[in-house]
Amino acid sequence: MSAPFSSPGELSGGAAASPGHLPRSAWIEVDLGALGHNFRAIRRSLPAGTALLYVVKDEAYGLGALAAARVALANGADRLAVFTLSEAERLRSAGITAPILLMGERLPEELPWVLRLDLEPCVGRLEIATALDALARQQGRPAPVHIKVNTGMNRFGLPWRAARSWAAELAALTGLRFEGVLGHFAQSDEEDKTFARVQLERFHQSLEALRAAGIEPRWKHHSNSGGALDLPEAHLDLVRVGLLAHGVYPSRVCRRLEDLRPVMTVKARLVAIQEVEPGDTVGYGMRWRADRPGRIGVLPLGYGDGFPRVRNEGHALIRGVRVPLVGGVAMDALTVDLTDLPGAAVGDEAVLMGRQGAEEISAHDLAALKRSVSYDLLAGWRSRLPRLYRHASPPNAP
Ligand SMILES: *Cc1c(COP(=O)(O)O)cnc(C)c1O
Repeated sequence: MSAPFSSPGELSGGAAASPGHLPRSAWIEVDLGALGHNFRAIRRSLPAGTALLYVVKDEAYGLGALAAARVALANGADRLAVFTLSEAERLRSAGITAPILLMGERLPEELPWVLRLDLEPCVGRLEIATALDALARQQGRPAPVHIKVNTGMNRFGLPWRAARSWAAELAALTGLRFEGVLGHFAQSDEEDKTFARVQLERFHQSLEALRAAGIEPRWKHHSNSGGALDLPEAHLDLVRVGLLAHGVYPSRVCRRLEDLRPVMTVKARLVAIQEVEPGDTVGYGMRWRADRPGRIGVLPLGYGDGFPRVRNEGHALIRGVRVPLVGGVAMDALTVDLTDLPGAAVGDEAVLMGRQGAEEISAHDLAALKRSVSYDLLAGWRSRLPRLYRHASPPNAP
């Protein structure tokens, strides 16, 4: 099996081709210059003392974790975070030495790998803290950990209500080095920040309990992109940013930074055009019927690539014009009505997500078709769409 993510390389005309891939007429362009630019912009928006951690879980939401991590680290990110050992292993084996936060919760069999890969795991259960403590003492090297506090998300973490009790128990684990302590917002990007402030207050109470037990971690953190934008009082020592770095805002109401640029564009070339007569139908189920003579354009990507499986909904951009999808999206193809775009020809480049001329189809627009969120939509682009990396800018370029 070939690697799903190609190494950075220049774009060429015609079908997309990149090292490790045969040509394909549908692809994703990842603008690493824009990613670096966004990191510099986010860095500038934070106080000098606040560190910037880049969350590269799920292949950096589909960009390709390794290429994205390298650009981020060269442009203002200090640390990385992933969710699985394999994700961390791929970064380490490619030579990434930056601190890596391992988010989520572990099972005992994962702990030897946590140490071997030199990761900083979140610990949200005393049993795991104890097991890691024993392993670290056995190996004669303290294990750095981030204490995960459940401040109201009720997913991972030690419960804030019992902070005094678990803080005392953690303090006895001499094999652990308490590098950080974190919480996670259940709602940070909506207008109403009431519960976010409740969570932050609970977090501060937990920090107080840790202090009373003699634990004062270096890195206190509770913010994702929404918190980084809208809750400056929650910046603390470090913010954990994923989505925002890709030029996509977590919601329509959160604060805007100056000049963030879109990083990911999904493209395809028109590979066939069919002439239809009134009464002709298009696609499976025959759910679209021509009411005039027209032309149907075929783009060679579908739900097997992560495009939402809709019918008679959504758009593509061709020659700077927004053309409607007609018929159903199939696994490998979707069809657009080109009747009002007589110049369109086989070989034309179409944009399915991103900008073309003055038009834009955002991740939010596409997510709405799927009745989901931009995170799901971005991470949902499948690995069979080749990633083409462009504009790898030199570190710290203006
Ligand atoms: C995914 C994740 C983040 C990043 O969230 P964004 O909204 O993409 O910035 C931060 N912290 C944790 C614990 C996460 O799981």
